[in-house]
Amino acid sequence: MSRVCYFYDQNVGEFDYGFGHPMKPLRNKLVHHLIMEYGIYKRLNIYKPWRATNEQMEMFHSKEYIDFLQRVTPEMALQPHFKKSLEEFNFTDDCPVFEGLYPFVQTVVGSSLGCAMKINERAADICVNWSGGLHHAKKSQASGFCYINDIVCAILELLKVHSRVLYIDIDHHHGDGVEEAFKATNRVMTFSLHKYGDNYFPGTGDVDEIGIDEGKNYSINVPLKDGINDEGYHRLFYPIIDRIMEVFQPSVVVMQCGADSLNGDRLGFFNLSIQGHCDCMKYVKKFGLPMILVGGGGYTVSNTARCWCYETAAACDLNIPDQIPINDYLEYYVPDMKITISTNPQMKNCNSRNYIEDILNKVMIILEDVGNSNLPIVQFTNPPRIDEHTIEMQIDEDQQDFNDVSNGFIRDIPLNIDSDEVIKMYTEPLPIYPKSKLFCTQNLKEFE
Ligand SMILES: [Zn+2]
Repeated sequence: MSRVCYFYDQNVGEFDYGFGHPMKPLRNKLVHHLIMEYGIYKRLNIYKPWRATNEQMEMFHSKEYIDFLQRVTPEMALQPHFKKSLEEFNFTDDCPVFEGLYPFVQTVVGSSLGCAMKINERAADICVNWSGGLHHAKKSQASGFCYINDIVCAILELLKVHSRVLYIDIDHHHGDGVEEAFKATNRVMTFSLHKYGDNYFPGTGDVDEIGIDEGKNYSINVPLKDGINDEGYHRLFYPIIDRIMEVFQPSVVVMQCGADSLNGDRLGFFNLSIQGHCDCMKYVKKFGLPMILVGGGGYTVSNTARCWCYETAAACDLNIPDQIPINDYLEYYVPDMKITISTNPQMKNCNSRNYIEDILNKVMIILEDVGNSNLPIVQFTNPPRIDEHTIEMQIDEDQQDFNDVSNGFIRDIPLNIDSDEVIKMYTEPLPIYPKSKLFCTQNLKEFE
């Protein structure tokens, strides 16, 4: 049975990108309520994340960008003399400056870093952060509703302990920010399936974008057209995953489970069912590698909540009833009140069998080259010891921090559940490693 950790901060669902913006952090609350009411929480270790520090975010992002992100307020964003900075850092209609932006991103990144640290400590088999997965953010720019790239931060954390990290992205959009961050290294393979063409955002991710320098052949892209269904998607996903596992031999996987690839998404044009989407995750899980699951896109709020609840259950090896239990957000699931959604048989699939075969062949040729090259092996010095960098917070009712956590969870869990059973442990910010240790040398075997 998998040991599954789940990071959730009840405040994350309260943030608001602004009226009419398709990104709704509220969806995290909906997922959490489903997880609670289905009883899935009994199989989870639930953690409230800390907020990531500037130093942690500067592992990837530029200091100038982080400083601005910390300072900027909605009022400042209206002042003409900030226009240049807002343009430089790409704060646009897609990425507005909203109230509480900085603590919001700190919480999201803190959750993904917490996932990576738990995996590094070998304290979990699967870690889940549905508030994360913000794959478009760049080193010094916001992009596509994403401000800080929590995935890149988490992968950098994993690289302290792992030689090779596999990143998988099943969002409707290309995982461009993650690919760009690691396109020149062979220690991270990125594999993204996404809509491509017709100038669709972000405009990158063709099959011939394969990475550069040492990272050549380590960026795998599957460009798709509208209407891809479960069958077509799996026809590509399964054999490519098989081959990646064979030739790249990752020791850990980060999977971005963006739910905008589902049928009926407000912004997406794919036709996956929730089972079809989840089957991708289950397929990867079968390889038995430690895994981090993050969210991402997903703009039909109810379907996104359904999908991530279903996938949390699958991560815990649970089959849950299709009938959604009574919960505070029941009105979102009318009229069918089911956890699953199907593909739409009326939707045209623009990906012909020939097109799919052609893409598959091209990807297999790229992976052939990976199979013919030497895999990077990093020797680590001073392996991080659990007792050095994990601080279990003492539960002290006088501490404001504890009270905040406790109140949040008591409000969020069903009344008949003992909160002590749910809140198993708390973590605090962990000291970051000196940068020099990131690619240091020592016997890797100690970790394998
Ligand atoms: Zn997306």
